[in-house]
Amino acid sequence: MTPEEFEHWSRKAADWGASYRASLADRPVRAQTAPGEIYRQIGAEPPETGEAMAAILADFERIILPGMTHWQHPRFFAYFPANAAPVSVVAEYLVTAMAAQCMLWQTSPAATELETRMMEWLRDAVGLPPDFAGVIQDSASSATLAAVLVMRERALGWEGNRQGLPGGARLRVYSSDQVHTSIDRAIWVSGIGQENLVKLPGDPVSGAMDAAALDAAIRADLAAGYRPAGVIASVGGTSTGATDDVAAVVRVAHAHGLYVHVDAAWAGSAMICPEFRPLWAGAEAADSIVFNPHKWLGASFDCSAHFIRDPSALVRTLAIQPEYLKTHGQDGILNYSEWSVPLGRRFRALKLWFLLRFHGLECLRAMIRNHVRWSQSLAERLRSGGGWEIVTEPMLSLFTFRRTGASDADTIALLKRINDDGCIYLTQTRVQGAIAIRFQAGSWAMTGADIDIAFNAILDAAGETP
Ligand SMILES: *Cc1c(COP(=O)(O)O)cnc(C)c1O
Repeated sequence: MTPEEFEHWSRKAADWGASYRASLADRPVRAQTAPGEIYRQIGAEPPETGEAMAAILADFERIILPGMTHWQHPRFFAYFPANAAPVSVVAEYLVTAMAAQCMLWQTSPAATELETRMMEWLRDAVGLPPDFAGVIQDSASSATLAAVLVMRERALGWEGNRQGLPGGARLRVYSSDQVHTSIDRAIWVSGIGQENLVKLPGDPVSGAMDAAALDAAIRADLAAGYRPAGVIASVGGTSTGATDDVAAVVRVAHAHGLYVHVDAAWAGSAMICPEFRPLWAGAEAADSIVFNPHKWLGASFDCSAHFIRDPSALVRTLAIQPEYLKTHGQDGILNYSEWSVPLGRRFRALKLWFLLRFHGLECLRAMIRNHVRWSQSLAERLRSGGGWEIVTEPMLSLFTFRRTGASDADTIALLKRINDDGCIYLTQTRVQGAIAIRFQAGSWAMTGADIDIAFNAILDAAGETP
């Protein structure tokens, strides 16, 4: 590609992005394609000679776009949001153009130093004390894996990396039964093993594990010769927003010398609003906390904020320093690749800097407060409409519901009708054994009017007239 062609097609791509965003409200939220439909349209062999960019771009629009689910759609109410605020996309254009590998301080000092400052900004913005240091991980899954590895190494006297897991000492990690699957996978990958993840039953309403039951489980394991290593607390679980009493969990865990990691991947963004911070009271005493600015806050994927009280334990667990990675003569500098499992690192701090500067915290707080309010208003309308059951009450902007008395098959059929229409997109979960429909409001582009559209679409799919 010549420099002139690069300029031309870069402009085209930016223009396309802008008109795509402007067109979102008119598109079906979820891809309406059948499995294999896209695959079959892609040639079986790579071309031997180059093709024209115009043809490639046309195929992108013709073949690829219909197979995309539009995560930036104003009526994306499924899963959790993956907001990419336009200003964050602009920052990502710049990052993509520079395409730097930011693994060490010296491989891009600005990336490291801006990351340090952005994590201080975020830490202060969510009300965590200044004795936390932060690092941007690629995902909450990676942050949780790093935290579990620290739990393992602490419990094994820093010998696990060298010796592997000795046959005798079976480590134990504790959580509620409401935790995200990334916790299970961290336990598998760390070699601790699923049988040693002790999942305590969550309270039927809050989803919280019982601190007394946690204490009893730890004591019983100690008596049985296990080696307790850590506890993972959940704030805003994926299914229904299950939230532990973090302060109580930390009290019990620390009394036994255990490491505490808090998974607030989705809900953590809401902590920029002081009125929501009681939901994670006690997090300030935890050892490790993760939340994803790439979910609700608007920093495009990937951008996971990982706060650690004692970074030296993390670095001791994860740092490898072969000769070619040493930065000689640079004392006191941070190499963030020593804080995470992958070596290579994207420049992720720039989009946070652009996002926080362009919008300011007040704008982001207003967005989150609107989402919470709108979601609660929809729950109230369904409740008072008759024939609807609010299965779990709104936790921030997430609640679950179904038709009163509906069987699992009825609820799944209703959800299919809702999603096949394409106007809104919802997902399901299982609550106390039965299927419920999940609703969360969180799209960056959403307005209050989208709640009315959602209400009408749900009633319509249920055969009711709004
Ligand atoms: C989304 C989510 C995760 C996983 O986040 P990734 O960044 O995709 O790894 C973990 N825990 C909770 C509670 C989540 O909502």
